[in-house]
Amino acid sequence: MERYARHLVLPEIGQEGQTNIEKGTVAVFGLGALGSTITDALTRAGVGELKLIDRDFVELSNLNHQILFDEDDLGKTKAEVAEERVREINSKVHVEGKVTNIDSSNIEELISDVDLVMDGTDNLEVRYLTNDACVKHRIPWIYTAVLATYGMTKNIIPDENACLRCFFPEKPSAGSLETCETAGVLFTLPRIMGNIAATEAIKYLTGTEMRKGLLTFDVWDHDFEVTQVEKREEKCKACGERDFQFLKSEDETITELCGRNSVQITPAEEENIDLEELAGRSNDAKKMGDRMVKISTGDYQLNVFADGRAIIKGTEDPKKAKSLYSQYVGN
Ligand SMILES: [Zn+2]
Repeated sequence: MERYARHLVLPEIGQEGQTNIEKGTVAVFGLGALGSTITDALTRAGVGELKLIDRDFVELSNLNHQILFDEDDLGKTKAEVAEERVREINSKVHVEGKVTNIDSSNIEELISDVDLVMDGTDNLEVRYLTNDACVKHRIPWIYTAVLATYGMTKNIIPDENACLRCFFPEKPSAGSLETCETAGVLFTLPRIMGNIAATEAIKYLTGTEMRKGLLTFDVWDHDFEVTQVEKREEKCKACGERDFQFLKSEDETITELCGRNSVQITPAEEENIDLEELAGRSNDAKKMGDRMVKISTGDYQLNVFADGRAIIKGTEDPKKAKSLYSQYVGN
C-alpha cells in the first residue's frame, strides 16, 4: 500500500486501478533507450508480469541513454540485466527476460499470454511483424519511435482503430530511412516518449479510455501534435484483408547490423548451446553473465547466445562472419 500511495490517492488510478495494474501482463519488445524507460515505468507502477525481450548485449554507447544499465553491465545481455534490475526495483513484479531475436518463427508464442505489447525496438521489420501478430491475435500494442529530436507514438487496438499498416501501408525498404546510428537521438527524447507510451499502457490496464490519434513530438522545438488517423482502412493488408505477410516471411539467417560493423547469424532452428562448455573450449572465450559467451580473436569478436544466435563484431562481410561462426561455434 505504501509503495503505491501516490497512485492510490489519484482519482485516475485509485485502489481498483492499482489492482488492475497488478493483474496485467505486458511484453516489452527491445530494451534500448525506449524499452528501458518503459520497463522502468511499468515496474515502478507495479504491473503484475513483465516479459522483456531483447537480442543484444550492453555496450558503452548505450550508457548515455539506456536507463536500466550501468558500467558493471557492459558485455552482459540486456534481457538478463533488465530482469535483475526489475527485481531490485520491485520484487512484487514477476519478470522474465528472454535473449532472442524477435522473428516470424517466435513472435506468436512471445505474445500468446500477454495483455499488451510495448514497442521499444528501433527496427521497422519487427514493428511490421508486431503489427501482423498483434492484429492477428487481437492483442493491443503501443507503437513508439524516436529519431534525433523527434518521436511518435500511437495506441493500436485491433478491430477498434487504425493499425500500423492503415497509416503506413508499406514497410520502407532497408537503408531508405535514417536510423538512430546515423541520425543520433537526443537522450531526453526516449525518456519522454517511453513515459508517454507507459502512461497509455497504464490507462489500458486500468480500463481507461486511451488517447486517440498519432502523437508526434519534437523535444527540441517543443512541437507537440496529435493527428487523427484512427479510421481503419478497409483495404489494409493487415486489419482489413487479414493477410499477414510478415508472419509468413522466411527468416534471414545472416543479417548485417547497420552502422555497427557487425553481422548477426541466426540458425534456422533454435539451438540449445551449452555456454559453459563453449566458454571452456578456448582461452579466448569468456562467459559474460549467464547467457552469453564472448570469443575474441584478432580484430573480431563473437558474441554467442544460448539459442545459437551470434553477433560477430569487426566485420560487415557475411561470409567472413559465417566462417568465424563455423570455426568457433560449429555448423
Ligand atoms: Zn490496418
